[in-house]
Amino acid sequence: MKADQFQAPDYYNLDDLLSDEHKMVREASREWVKREVSPIIEEAAQKAEFPKQLINGLAEIGAFGPYIPEEYGGAGLDQISYGLIMQEIERGDSGIRSTASVQSSLVMYPIFKYGTEEQKKKYLPKLASGEMMGCFGLTEPDHGSNPGGMTSNFKDKGDHYLLNGAKLWISNSPFADIAVVWAKNEEGRIHGLIVERGMEGFSTPETHNKWSLRASATGELVFNNMKVPKENLLPEKSGLGAPLGCLDSARYGIAWGAIGAAMDCYDTALRYAKERIQFGKPIAGFQLQQKKLAEMITEITKAQLLAWRLGVMRNEGTATSAQISMAKRNNVAMAINIAREARQILGGMGITGEYSIMRHMMNLESVITYEGTHDIHLLITGADITGIPAFQ
Ligand SMILES: Cc1cc2nc3c(=O)[nH]c(=O)nc-3n(C[C@H](O)[C@H](O)[C@H](O)COP(=O)(O)OP(=O)(O)OC[C@H]3O[C@@H](n4cnc5c(N)ncnc54)[C@H](O)[C@@H]3O)c2cc1C
Repeated sequence: MKADQFQAPDYYNLDDLLSDEHKMVREASREWVKREVSPIIEEAAQKAEFPKQLINGLAEIGAFGPYIPEEYGGAGLDQISYGLIMQEIERGDSGIRSTASVQSSLVMYPIFKYGTEEQKKKYLPKLASGEMMGCFGLTEPDHGSNPGGMTSNFKDKGDHYLLNGAKLWISNSPFADIAVVWAKNEEGRIHGLIVERGMEGFSTPETHNKWSLRASATGELVFNNMKVPKENLLPEKSGLGAPLGCLDSARYGIAWGAIGAAMDCYDTALRYAKERIQFGKPIAGFQLQQKKLAEMITEITKAQLLAWRLGVMRNEGTATSAQISMAKRNNVAMAINIAREARQILGGMGITGEYSIMRHMMNLESVITYEGTHDIHLLITGADITGIPAFQ
């Protein structure tokens, strides 16, 4: 792969909206991605391997629990810093950002928000340092966009719970030490349970043959009469709102992350267009290519403003789930469109692993589907503005 020459676009001087701490956090992540991710990511994606050697570095830049308080091992940062870290990691690869998102927002967040003090002390510091890796089991083979229909269930057996069911499409499952699993109790109410690798009746088969997020490990979670200790139930919140609360946090991170992938595609295409000569001049000098590049920077700038404003509202505690849906949907669609256009600017070179664009483009096909599909987020906005849900 080509040497990483990334230069971040900032067309509206959005840096002026950031504090010194935000910029410091972003620079540390950006440098780390340049040094550790860019040189190895293409090969990892080609081989369909999650590069485990990145775990320590992710922990060091604060990517595991950026906003979790320091007393539990987190970085104690605000929501904008969290967003900027996700942006920089996804600039490198959406699969690596997925690992960080899952660990932070889908594993540490529910333990922090819905767990007991003992659970927080037992799991959070190890998750923050990367000593322990986690995954999040909500989606089932027959329940994706409609997780409330889940059939995974647990029964109270006196001194333990008996868990049965299966989860599909679970990021990090093949190597995770623990999983936060959502299942229904005997009354049909959804609860979160922490399950640990090695517990009897628990297996995590890997899902192969993905053309997308190839540097991220995906798999199943299978519970076959699995005994789960009672102290592993997350007691502070139940119902579908509990997993959806985690998704809010993760979707917010994706809204920033997608900007990173888009910036990388734009920056690569701009540089290539200025260097590539056809018909005696750089292709950047042709109006059709300028249209593509000008529209890209316009869309990136709009997405940056959306993410920044959402971050301010998240810091104030006023952002709604529907506002988060809008940003996730818009920014991922923006990124995938830019990846497709950028690939064309590179002509034949655009399909090779010499450049990051095709990898970003394929990765974004998962990002536009997971954590709520593009269409489901549109329905969330529709329900919010009309007051009439159109899901059923
Ligand atoms: C690589 C990858 C990693 C993932 N990681 C995780 C993870 O870590 N944990 C986890 O729990 N899940 C994970 N997922 C699952 C992901 O969240 C689901 O794939 C997603 O929610 C969509 O569910 P589905 O694939 O079953 O599609 P479906 O729900 O079957 O949807 C298929 C299509 O129908 C549309 N549709 C569905 N319902 C409606 C409706 N009411 N109105 C209009 N259109 C509708 C959808 O928009 C979509 O286009 C991952 C998925 C992928 C691909």
